[in-house]
Amino acid sequence: MTHQNLRILHPITEVDLHTIPIDRYIGTASDETITAIKDAAEQTLAVCDGHIVWHINSTAVGGGVAEMLPSMLGYCRGLGIKTRWLVISGNPDFFQITKRLHHALHGESGDGTPLDEKARAIYEATMEANVDELLALIRPGDIVILHDPQTIGLAPSLSKHGARIVWRCHIGRHPANDEVNAAWNFLAPYLKYSPRYVFTRKEYVPDALDHGKSILLPPSLDAFTPKNQDMDQNTIDSILTYTGLVGGQTPWEPSLEFQRSDGSMDRINRFVDIVRCGAPPQRDRPLVIQVSRWDPLKDPVGVMHGFTQWLSHGGEDSGAELILAGPSVKAVADDPESPMTFGQVFTAWTQLPSWQRSRVHLAMLPMSDVEENAAIVNALQRHASVIVQKSLQEGFGLTVTEAMWKGRPVIASKVGGIQDQIEDGVHGLLLDDPTDLDAFAAAIGRLISDPELSRSVGEKAKERVRDHYLETRSVLDHLQLICEIEKSE
Ligand code: UDP
Repeated sequence: MTHQNLRILHPITEVDLHTIPIDRYIGTASDETITAIKDAAEQTLAVCDGHIVWHINSTAVGGGVAEMLPSMLGYCRGLGIKTRWLVISGNPDFFQITKRLHHALHGESGDGTPLDEKARAIYEATMEANVDELLALIRPGDIVILHDPQTIGLAPSLSKHGARIVWRCHIGRHPANDEVNAAWNFLAPYLKYSPRYVFTRKEYVPDALDHGKSILLPPSLDAFTPKNQDMDQNTIDSILTYTGLVGGQTPWEPSLEFQRSDGSMDRINRFVDIVRCGAPPQRDRPLVIQVSRWDPLKDPVGVMHGFTQWLSHGGEDSGAELILAGPSVKAVADDPESPMTFGQVFTAWTQLPSWQRSRVHLAMLPMSDVEENAAIVNALQRHASVIVQKSLQEGFGLTVTEAMWKGRPVIASKVGGIQDQIEDGVHGLLLDDPTDLDAFAAAIGRLISDPELSRSVGEKAKERVRDHYLETRSVLDHLQLICEIEKSE
């Protein structure tokens, strides 16, 4: 990784954060919002008594949490708040259990590993292996925000040490089922050491938790990261042609540049690993994409089958192609399922009739430099005619927010936080049943054949993100939370 400096404090890793001025948002967010943020920062600094706000999760790259923290914490640092980000480590057995918990909180059985005492012993051994180094770094009185099931097991030791704990859970499912309840039972002994919880949606707060202690904070995106920054057409075309994602003439004066979070300029260097038969999608043809980790809950095989079903039933003449894009399967440390899921997608792809196979491309994006990866995703999202997120379950669905910010028409499942982001037919199209491939195929056809509808939902989608899901809102929420903790204890 080149944008983040990782300090290895075995078994903990500290991710060095940038310091970003909130004034960057002048002209993008309202003046009132920026003033409110500065006021909240001033109030927080007045009460925080030098305490550090620590965020702890289990991966520095890949997925929504790693996506969100650098910006949010960077702006907080720019406002003078002392904040740091630590990443715990674990072995494959630990990540198998935490992935199982992740699935269970989404109501799924995952690989079916029992959430029993053996699993608990593996989980707690990882907590113990990490905790000594954490106790050396964290001071009594510091605020510690633990992210997701991977880290809540640290709450007992850190709380006894005098740290003030917040647990931020980025996933959930409504209504709960037996799997969800099994996950809550597993996590219950640790949760009681956390006096505050942050959830993405109120429906995700389990009945057993004291609702008065939970705070709702939907995620947001930063308009200035390599993932979301403006990109001119020449750069989009150059990046997509250079990396091999899209075919066609290389632009006359190619530009592969993007701006890093530290403000420096860099260029795309790496190519994308692509599984395809035949030519890349041509630039002037409609392109449907889904960008996601290789995770069964993102239903990449369903996306492929829904798309090919549409091709077979009237979509073929449009010339449209599909790219399923995700990280290089070796890259995401806390996602052991990635290679297996990619393998399933590949097998399903090989079983397509060859004319359909030539219209579907499986892209593994380079992850060794996450900001380069982000710039490639940015170009791909901006180029796409339709962006889909056909998840079976979804905590929030940041890829949907990203697509909306780029003014692209989105088709997404009416699950999790996606239904908060999109009003069907206004900011995109929602699928009531994510497994209904007929409805999915029809929605693709509707957007591809109606450019005016695509344009109007895309335009409204962008405004929706500006009003509700920009980084400025998250920074303000975060400052208010810290201030409230400092004042209350
Ligand atoms: N992502 C990425 N590169 C990839 C695949 C995904 O940068 O190859 C990003 C994607 O753009 C989004 C995040 O990973 O910012 C995924 O967040 P989301 O909430 O959609 O799903 P999660 O992975 O947290 O379940």
